[in-house]
Amino acid sequence: MARQSGRAKRIDYFYGGFLEDRTYLWRNHPTEKGESLIHLGTDYTVPFGTPVCLPKPGEVYHIMFDPENKIGWGGRLIFKLEGGNYLLFGHLKQDIKLQLGQPIKEGEIVGIIGETTENGNWWPHLHAQLMNSQFMVNYVNKFNNIDGYAPANSDEIRNVFNPEIIINDGSRGYAIY
Ligand SMILES: [Zn+2]
Repeated sequence: MARQSGRAKRIDYFYGGFLEDRTYLWRNHPTEKGESLIHLGTDYTVPFGTPVCLPKPGEVYHIMFDPENKIGWGGRLIFKLEGGNYLLFGHLKQDIKLQLGQPIKEGEIVGIIGETTENGNWWPHLHAQLMNSQFMVNYVNKFNNIDGYAPANSDEIRNVFNPEIIINDGSRGYAIY
């Protein structure tokens, strides 16, 4: 999928990668499992320290930390959005101060883009992953196991949407200041 450029409220950024086949990038990686790896979200490359806000109203559904910076997510948040879908933000700073169940208003800042040393060892970026309720049902009691990749033809791929439809809808939705 080609990368596109866009202009947020205060900074330039570029993004891409929804349902991109990244199998070749992971080949021979220590965690590689020998299967195809399709990227389930969209990556927004922005400087570390960039505030991230929720583009639609919702509530905090799951919070995960990566204290040794080894899991690959850094700070990770999942929100249940009004309307029933779920939005995951990964590779954030880990000083998350939100509470489970906390209601979040549209446009409210929920996290900060993390540095490599705290975001799971990646270049500074936001991984946004938009999932339907079936995706979450399949991970009940194991939300920590939700990954940003899945094999081709997996249930995960059938249960995600391109987050661009809410993050950059040209009018109200935005996630990156
Ligand atoms: Zn990603």
